Amino acid sequence: MASTLTSSDNFKETLKQQADIVRIVGDYVKLKKAGAQNFSGLCPFHAEKTPSFSVHATRQFYHCFGCGESGDVFAFIQKVENITFPEAVRLLAQKLGVPMPKVSFSSPAEARDAQVRMALLDVHVRAAAFFQECLRRPEGAKAREYLKGRGLDDETIARFRIGYAPDSGFLLRDALRREFDEELLRESGLFSWKEGDRSQVSGDRFQEKQVLRSAQDDSRQPSALSSQQRKIPHSARDDKKGGGSARDDNSVEGAKSQEPKAAPAIYSKFRNRVMFPICNEQGKVIAFTGRTLSAFTDEKAGPKYLNSPETAIYSKSRVLFNLDNAKEAIRKYEYSILVEGQMDCISVYAAGFHNVIASSGTAFTELQAKLLGRFSKKVVVNFDPDTAGARATERTLGLLVEEEFNIQVLTLETGFDPDLFIRRKGKDAYVAALKHSQKYFDYLIDRARAMFPGRNSESKVKAVNHLLPHIQRVPNRIVRDGLALEISQKLGIDSAVLRQELKYAATNRSATQVKASAEAQVTGAERVLIRALASATQMQAGGERSSAREGTDEEFDPARQAQYALQSEQLYEGLASQSLMEALLEAGTETADVLALPKTEEDRRLLASVLMNEEEDLTPETVEGAVRALRRIYLRRRLEEVQGALQRPGLPLEERQALLQEKVRLKRALMDPGLAEAAGRAS
Ligand SMILES: [Zn+2]
Repeated sequence: MASTLTSSDNFKETLKQQADIVRIVGDYVKLKKAGAQNFSGLCPFHAEKTPSFSVHATRQFYHCFGCGESGDVFAFIQKVENITFPEAVRLLAQKLGVPMPKVSFSSPAEARDAQVRMALLDVHVRAAAFFQECLRRPEGAKAREYLKGRGLDDETIARFRIGYAPDSGFLLRDALRREFDEELLRESGLFSWKEGDRSQVSGDRFQEKQVLRSAQDDSRQPSALSSQQRKIPHSARDDKKGGGSARDDNSVEGAKSQEPKAAPAIYSKFRNRVMFPICNEQGKVIAFTGRTLSAFTDEKAGPKYLNSPETAIYSKSRVLFNLDNAKEAIRKYEYSILVEGQMDCISVYAAGFHNVIASSGTAFTELQAKLLGRFSKKVVVNFDPDTAGARATERTLGLLVEEEFNIQVLTLETGFDPDLFIRRKGKDAYVAALKHSQKYFDYLIDRARAMFPGRNSESKVKAVNHLLPHIQRVPNRIVRDGLALEISQKLGIDSAVLRQELKYAATNRSATQVKASAEAQVTGAERVLIRALASATQMQAGGERSSAREGTDEEFDPARQAQYALQSEQLYEGLASQSLMEALLEAGTETADVLALPKTEEDRRLLASVLMNEEEDLTPETVEGAVRALRRIYLRRRLEEVQGALQRPGLPLEERQALLQEKVRLKRALMDPGLAEAAGRAS
């Protein structure tokens, strides 16, 4: 076990060395060169308009000056993809085309979760292939007809991996049961069963088996696993290879498994439906939407559209339909087109607008907005906010406003959704419509005027009140101010009182506070010394520096100079950066990964922010200057203490004398900081 851990640690290190964080981050964030070794872009972890997110090319870490997020390439992938560390390692290996060794997880629970997710991805690959195959078969005729009717050609059908779920409860199940354990299929969201005697046992049992299996097959890509391995045989209950704690739990469950009738039969949830796979950002199928082909009068047919339930791999609040296909185009054209339904999305895409994504009819979540914002903060919204889903679409738009998107609204003629519009009027008409899309607030103002027509002040007040909640969503005060002005002009508000009220309401949104962190209290001198201390590790990693040092004994070593000054005089005591400096001093030159040294998250952020700004070279003068500045800080603080002590009533004469002497020494030293070293620590 120990050897596995070591080799996998090595693997992570090797992987990290091979990865260029600038390129990896560049997959998610548009980066621009911002300095000798920095790149910057809009932070994927918080909403912003001006870039405060930086990537350090030499030291291979990122840091956001806005929200304080920082870390190495694994931390970035983990955070941005919302996955576990082992999954981040796997994904990075995939991106670099490096084969994976055995993965070790930090806990059995983590291993089990990742295992379940990988197995479920496999189930979906097979299910999608099954549905595609069914679409080609004779029973798929009606589905093919439907798709043809919607104007979809074979290429589009293939690209979106559209399929057909036959009108049978058992075909899919029987096809998948050859490869997958039934317990896994129950977790997939593709099947139903009659509730009642269905106990909770199955879920637990499934997860236990995952633990038992994890040691054997986690080294492979899910798709590379043979069907033998994917299949979890029923004999796994008395698995002889297992052992360990998971096996003990199994005995409880083993007793229950004696009753084979306990588990009711599973059957397909999706029957007689055109199947649209929903993919994650990497293009892996994680869920389906099924559009019924049954007559609407058929009560058994269920809803027109049926979606997969939430599973271990599918959380609808985190997925944007077609993002996997659209993300490159969104970056390239620097905007996205947001439509409501999947069919709309596919039609718009097929017409050549590859930067289109769909919200799938429900309101956007914050996560989805952030996800989209990673690719571009400009979006053309092509759904009619006045339609049946008005509340959901209004929430979506509100959220996009809150995330500081630049929103345009594309309103098509009444009765036209994007799909129908393109089919009837063609692609060029859609291009023209895109060009005539309107700024979101102009659109809102127009709508308010239409809702409350009339030039009297009563309707103007109503229009203003209608608009206010929208304006108050805008996070930026200056933008809100501007909007208030625009509204009073466009609505022709001449009443000074009403204008004032509008401005007040628009401006006084509960302000998002910028909290002053410890980072803000760290002086420039401390930053220089932190850099100097951190340079010890950089030289070690670089290697070239030591050879330069061989030539001359007097080679400037900022780390040594800083270490000496700080340690001999304890100059870091009481500073905002004290704990960070202590951590760096403690480590000396032992560690290669300097960002792993700080003991708290706050210190790590501070270090990242300092290192991100190391533009000019350290010289003996800058280090010495910083040391002197810290001495001055120390002297001033000590002087304050002495003066405070002198105020104390009933101070013994002797002590008073000593304090007075120190006060003189301190004052003299403060006038000549070069001498301060001796004076400061004399007492
Ligand atoms: Zn940020």
